[in-house]
Amino acid sequence: MAEAPKYHTPPSPLYLRGGAIALIPKRQTMERLAKTDIKYLPGVGPRRAELLGKELDIHSFYDLLYYFPFRYIDRSTIHKISDMQGEMPYIQLKGRFLSFAPQGEGAKRRLNALFTDGTGTIEVVWFNRVKYIMENYHTGKEYILFGKPTIYKGHYNMAHPEVDPYKPEALNRGLVGVYNLTEKMHNRSFTTRALQKIVKALLEHQLFQSVSETLPQSTINRYKLMPLKEALINIHTPQSIQLLQQSQRRLKFEELFFLQMNILKYIKGRNAQVPGHVFAHVGEHFNSFYKSYLKFPLTGAQKRVIKEMRHDMGSGKQMNRLLQGDVGSGKTIVAFMTMLLAADNGYQACIMAPTEILASQHYESIGEMAQAVGLKAALLTGSTRKKEREKIHEQLMSGELNILIGTHALIEDTVKFKNLGLAIIDEQHRFGVAQRAKLWHKNTTPPHVLVMTATPIPRTLAMTVYGDLDVSVIDELPPGRKPVTTVLRYENNHMAVYHFIGQELKKGRQCYIVYPLIEENEKLDLRALEEGYEIIRENFPSYRVAYVHGKMKPNEKDYQMGLFASGQAHILVSTTVIEVGVNVPNASVMVIENAERFGLSQLHQLRGRVGRGADQSYCILMSKYQLSKETRHRLKVMTETNDGFVVAEEDMKLRGPGDMEGTQQSGVAFNLRIANLASDGVVLQAARDEAQRILEEDFELKSADGKMLQRTMRFLFSRDTNWGMIS
Ligand code: ADP
Ligand code: MG
Repeated sequence: MAEAPKYHTPPSPLYLRGGAIALIPKRQTMERLAKTDIKYLPGVGPRRAELLGKELDIHSFYDLLYYFPFRYIDRSTIHKISDMQGEMPYIQLKGRFLSFAPQGEGAKRRLNALFTDGTGTIEVVWFNRVKYIMENYHTGKEYILFGKPTIYKGHYNMAHPEVDPYKPEALNRGLVGVYNLTEKMHNRSFTTRALQKIVKALLEHQLFQSVSETLPQSTINRYKLMPLKEALINIHTPQSIQLLQQSQRRLKFEELFFLQMNILKYIKGRNAQVPGHVFAHVGEHFNSFYKSYLKFPLTGAQKRVIKEMRHDMGSGKQMNRLLQGDVGSGKTIVAFMTMLLAADNGYQACIMAPTEILASQHYESIGEMAQAVGLKAALLTGSTRKKEREKIHEQLMSGELNILIGTHALIEDTVKFKNLGLAIIDEQHRFGVAQRAKLWHKNTTPPHVLVMTATPIPRTLAMTVYGDLDVSVIDELPPGRKPVTTVLRYENNHMAVYHFIGQELKKGRQCYIVYPLIEENEKLDLRALEEGYEIIRENFPSYRVAYVHGKMKPNEKDYQMGLFASGQAHILVSTTVIEVGVNVPNASVMVIENAERFGLSQLHQLRGRVGRGADQSYCILMSKYQLSKETRHRLKVMTETNDGFVVAEEDMKLRGPGDMEGTQQSGVAFNLRIANLASDGVVLQAARDEAQRILEEDFELKSADGKMLQRTMRFLFSRDTNWGMIS
């Protein structure tokens, strides 16, 4: 039998910790709710309180108030059994029990009942509370059943439905919130219904009555937000769909607003403390390069982001900027031109790439451009010889070197600059936050920091995860690029694919063939790669095939890559070592073997290796035929769009923001209660704008509204997030 609810008298203030309740000003009702143990709520009591704490982490009135339903059910409509089809959601049925039949003994004891609504019958099953049900429910009486029908052995049945005697008013219940509960709670008769009941008790409790607004009235007016108390009532017990939506919007806004307030306050506080080198003027290096050596007109987006950075670097504050641009959008030239600004103002600059191959490529292109305008650049990687290394160290200290290009070798403590003014990190996701921080100490005044990434991060995520960085986006590809045509082919199509590759090679193009390689499966993966290499050689005897994988010695790897980059080899068979940044514009075909084993953003990165020249390029995803629904969707996204941001959004929807590149290292806990970064971009933007506006007016939060916000922030962020981690 269900545990009888134990009613407690509301606690006297003396029961509260420290007896401090009288001292807490009325405003701080959230604190009071948070300090009131859930066991004091009518209908809870010590046993249920323990269960709530252990299973749902609900310890206080506040915790319960902010434990929102994960979905809502319309309780005003009744289904017909004869209309049930396929996978069914939670529904209501109205009818009578025909029979009750207890089965089994002891732990296996259960109760089967047959229920009819006149259009058909459905079996209803209980695995506990058998005695209670036998005594309280009766055949012949009319009931409303609420539950989720499942198909078992070809028939629908419903386990543990909610059962109510039918009354016409029952259908006036409208929308009802459904809460996530655990198995253990169900076993102890702590059902959705029970949770709804205690939530109702909370909403009627005097402590809830005194909940006060957390947002300034001006904010509420500007964004037409529902007042807090009304929103909390409607999120749990919505009076209508419209009111539910308004309450959701209000609560999402509030959640994201305080998150943004916290991030922005942190950044602005830091910026105020950290002075930056002032790149006051645009000088000869920049201008002469722009006039005489730039080989193509910059795209509008490139110009815009250069302007954004010029503004930052001239402001006297240290720049911390994230530059996002899809693969091939032309980030390198932007990076180089900001380096010219540094040089024009008497500062050195460095750029750090995640691999030696990439660092060398940068050295080739940037080194050449630097030379043209009379600047000296050097390459420093793990394989730089000692003598060369010493020379570089010397020239960095003397100021003879203007630009240093390298791998992480460049952040080693032995590398010291005369006057580093700008540090650029390419393909950021390979670098941790700690490494980024190391760059700060390369000069007494930290250099401006520009982080570049080709892994498009949805704006919403960037605003939160990289909330401490300002974001610039190159959202335009250089003209003349043809979108890559992407197709999905199954393994039995290999011969047709080879035929196609042959045709492209005949036109003088080059081709990548990529295999997955993961550590857990390394041996098998390497074998597949080797076999693939042999098969390709057999099929293309008149072409040269280069071969690269991560386990090779760096020298050998560079040699093989070099063969392909220079056009001496026509086909490159490799693992994902080529994933990032490599630029061979003549390559027009990217074949990805076992494409089902790659994530979306990785597939998009790989695809970005082609489509860099003027020719039509192709990306061929090879996969097995049997695919899970999710994998099929992933591959379909690839064939349907070339837009890195769309891919990234989809990726985030599929994987959830917690798994996205960069979130683990960011230190941001992803414990949003109601907002969803994948779908609430509009609200997030509004919340950020408003936070920005408020902080501009009252950074110290000294006004009456400011004090109220400050208090809420202190309350929220001392609870679960360590914001000091971000940077
Ligand atoms: P990514 O953003 O992936 O690092 P890159 O900087 O390597 O892209 O640029 C890709 C290619 O596009 C390079 O060959 C570069 O020279 C070329 N490129 C960059 N900007 C432009 C432009 N505005 N017009 C034409 N080509 C450009
Ligand atoms: Mg690049």
